[in-house]
Amino acid sequence: MFSAANYFYHSVKCGKKHLMDFDVAIVGAGAAGISATRYLRAKGLSTVTLEASGRVGGRAWTIDLAGYPLDLGCGWLHSAERNPMVRYARENGFEVIESRTAWFDQWRDIGFKREEQSQAKAAWSALIERMKTIPPKSDLAADALEPNGRWNDYCQSLSGYLNGASLERLSVEDFLAYDSVASDANWRVTEGYGRLIASSLPPGVLKLSCPVRRIAMRGDGLDISTDRGAFNVRAAVVTVSTEVLSSGSIKFDKQADEHLDAAASLPLGLADKLFFQLVGNHGLEPETHLLGNQNDSQTGSYYIRPLGREIIEGFFGGPGAVAIEELGLRDAFLFAEQQLVDRLGGDIRRHLRPILASSWSRMDWIGGSYSHALPGKASKRAVLAKPVEDKVFFAGEATHSSDFSTAHGAWESGIRAGAEVSKTLNP
Ligand SMILES: Cc1cc2nc3c(=O)[nH]c(=O)nc-3n(C[C@H](O)[C@H](O)[C@H](O)COP(=O)(O)OP(=O)(O)OC[C@H]3O[C@@H](n4cnc5c(N)ncnc54)[C@H](O)[C@@H]3O)c2cc1C
Repeated sequence: MFSAANYFYHSVKCGKKHLMDFDVAIVGAGAAGISATRYLRAKGLSTVTLEASGRVGGRAWTIDLAGYPLDLGCGWLHSAERNPMVRYARENGFEVIESRTAWFDQWRDIGFKREEQSQAKAAWSALIERMKTIPPKSDLAADALEPNGRWNDYCQSLSGYLNGASLERLSVEDFLAYDSVASDANWRVTEGYGRLIASSLPPGVLKLSCPVRRIAMRGDGLDISTDRGAFNVRAAVVTVSTEVLSSGSIKFDKQADEHLDAAASLPLGLADKLFFQLVGNHGLEPETHLLGNQNDSQTGSYYIRPLGREIIEGFFGGPGAVAIEELGLRDAFLFAEQQLVDRLGGDIRRHLRPILASSWSRMDWIGGSYSHALPGKASKRAVLAKPVEDKVFFAGEATHSSDFSTAHGAWESGIRAGAEVSKTLNP
């Protein structure tokens, strides 16, 4: 709790002109804010972590339901062999599961013949190859599609899952920056990725339900105004999403205009999950997958019994996620149920219990799922990652040059910003 007592307790004499409450304010307690806090505290700097919502983790969020830890946001440790969270998880007693993913399999080839699956995968690979070898001058990913290609809707659905956006909204340069360094190793953590990240916040000063409203330059430091009082600090690490930045809900001095403009070029795409609990003798095999409709760019992708659990995890991306959020929860579940019925037959209905769904575009203080660069705007990630007057340092997934859109990218960006702050304050 913020109180006059701990205000004075944390006040430190810093320079001749002002009393500082803390060396550094970290704005946002998602993966980036947490890793920045860890880094700065380890360097001996005093920190306050200011989080607008009532919980830690941001887009990393595990909910315990139906006896399972279910991840509403990040769930996969992407590029796992070099993902720093794998080591962190193991060192801290979490169980990392290394099995391969079933994303590209169609269980028993139901409704999607083996031959068609090969053609669809080949069309996706060919699209990426064209982006690499003959990138469209427009930098617009949809311009690399084969005109009237048989698998264009399928490619659009994959873009929805990967980027949260259709190919019309996507920069080729940005897409390739991620694709060229991402590996096929996608692992999981039994206890939940959200739980892993949220539990990694070190003990220290954390203010929940404490939205930051204004960050103002002031002589030798910054004034941070929040709904729970003001803080004087030497520097700030700002980790809020690009959607929050470009909405103007935090006021900055004009020196940050270029950064806010960059954030608007890196909007959050949309991806949503929808969970069914499985009951009774349904006959579905663990660790299998069904694509709802390979000819529909908005189709759901259904992961069946992940980690052997009695769960189906539906995933929607880009326009598909926009559509299910517009439908509302009840109709979104009906849509997903119908796709499963179309694949598995009407009997599956009695085994499905809708239990949980995300609506990331409606999530206060976040406003979407993960960032992508608009065509021609890939360089804006570097702009957003630059410090403002060596006082305001931006972090968060959107500032990573290649692992953007991921939890480990967010984590690494917090460490990058933490190192910059520490170098500036402790030269
Ligand atoms: C459905 C979905 C699936 C995903 N799947 C994966 C996956 O499998 N693997 C993977 O690696 N990544 C995945 N991601 C992406 C990953 O979750 C994010 O990239 C990452 O968690 C972002 O972390 P961050 O710290 O940059 O931002 P955030 O998590 O958004 O953290 C920012 C924090 O700032 C707070 N905040 C906002 N405004 C203010 C304010 N004014 N004052 C104070 N605090 C404020 C927010 O409440 C939030 O807690 C997924 C995301 C979604 C939504």
